[in-house]
Amino acid sequence: MNHTIEIDGIHVSPHHYIGGQRVASSQTFTDHCPIDGHVIGEIAAGLPEHCDAAVTAADEAFPAWAALGPEGRRTHLRRFAAEIRAWGEKLARVECEDNGMLLARLRGHQIERCAQNIEYFADEAVRLASMAFDGEKAHHDVRHEPAGVALLITPWNSPMMLTTWKLGPALAAGNAVVVKPPEWAPLTCSMFGDIADAAGLPKGVLNIVQGIGAETGARLVADPRLARISFTGSVPTAKQISQSAGANLVPASFELGGKSPFIVLADADLQVAAETAALQYRNAGQVCLAGTRLLVDESVAGEFLDRMHAVVERLRVGDPRDPATEIGPIIHPRQFAQVDGFVQRAVADGAEVLWGGSAHQAGDLYYQPTLLGSVDQESEIVQNEVFGPVLVVQTFGNDDEAVELANGTRYGLAGVVFGEDERAKAVADRLRTGMVWVNSFFLRDLNAPFGGIRDSGIGREGGQWSFEFFCDIKDVMMPHTPYRPVFAGG
Ligand code: NAD
Repeated sequence: MNHTIEIDGIHVSPHHYIGGQRVASSQTFTDHCPIDGHVIGEIAAGLPEHCDAAVTAADEAFPAWAALGPEGRRTHLRRFAAEIRAWGEKLARVECEDNGMLLARLRGHQIERCAQNIEYFADEAVRLASMAFDGEKAHHDVRHEPAGVALLITPWNSPMMLTTWKLGPALAAGNAVVVKPPEWAPLTCSMFGDIADAAGLPKGVLNIVQGIGAETGARLVADPRLARISFTGSVPTAKQISQSAGANLVPASFELGGKSPFIVLADADLQVAAETAALQYRNAGQVCLAGTRLLVDESVAGEFLDRMHAVVERLRVGDPRDPATEIGPIIHPRQFAQVDGFVQRAVADGAEVLWGGSAHQAGDLYYQPTLLGSVDQESEIVQNEVFGPVLVVQTFGNDDEAVELANGTRYGLAGVVFGEDERAKAVADRLRTGMVWVNSFFLRDLNAPFGGIRDSGIGREGGQWSFEFFCDIKDVMMPHTPYRPVFAGG
């Protein structure tokens, strides 16, 4: 099981990681590099026996891991976080090659965030107070207990960060886990197996099964031994998973897509708003919470768009390994075709290309930062998530109109409002989303709830919300006075 894929001198296992062992498969799928489309390697495809073995390994490892208690688990998880930092440069380079994310951002932000995702929850689990209170008849000791085997399913747009964001609370809460990495960018998740070995994590506590979603993922979610399913990905997949989860009554959480409004009021600082709007192209727009619908007060729309265009013109599209690059490639030819398809249908439908609108000359999978105007609220391009560097702009005459447009899709993940503080806050209060940034963007805090409403998801991740999902709640009651059973009148 020593066969590895070599990336720039870094060796990554293409196999599953089950019960602390690397496990090969008779079937594989091909992993491509989005930077130039070359084949990175063949990855083990999870067959039914691999899925079943991974859940069995987790099930067997669970009792001892749960019995360690939060302090014991913290010791292991702090070592795991330290290994993430030690492996940081390798993880950054592999994620860049596999997913196309900017290397500078991976080095400067993502690796540390991954380590913090583990450390933060390891520490919080120790502090997780059992809520105790004296009721009228008894003392109540309400506890967070480990739930069992948690299945963690992540998408390709930020696989390493999103996996640790689930791994931290799931493991700290005392669960054993099975991770199903995304098939378009599976490699950094595989490296977590090596990191688990290096950190001395007990075997079977973390298992990784690679594979195609509709096959391997579907087999895993149908396993009745699961205690939790934590999913981040698209709406259609969430609907399929919820059927399996429902059939087995397994609690599931869903972090899904978005079409978030980015509102610019007339009294906004237009330069800061314009620069922040340009940030929505980050990661080639493959960001769930990007503010992809620009809603601008008609009295300042011309000036705002001029300022934004000046910023966008300077954005460097190209190789994500180059420190000067600001926008890298789209992950996969299928995703590229989806992005371009949305743009071409919108144009055929009457949308005006304000900038971009087609491929970028940097390479096969690069797309120009694009802005479309003259779009109807009910059109496909306004209502659906593109998941590429494509924004739309609409104008409004007053705050009521802005709120109506903002709330007028099936999604409700995030929102952004720029304007005079009090007025912007009043608009933010009326948005039907899980999160809103006022005069700012992407200020994240691990204590804060992350998630959306309606088609953007069910449940929240972050802080205590992660533990509410990954734990079973138990109330142990002791009577204040000696208890006497009575059939009536008691
Ligand atoms: P996807 O739904 O196609 O795949 C996500 C994961 O689910 C992958 O690992 C895939 O293999 C697996 N999967 C697919 N079909 C499955 C099935 N039938 N059963 C079990 N697992 C299955 O999504 P994607 O294209 O990888 O990711 C993009 C989507 O993720 C976008 O909609 C984006 O907005 C969303 N996203 C949301 C958040 C958030 O936190 N809200 C963060 C990042 C991405």
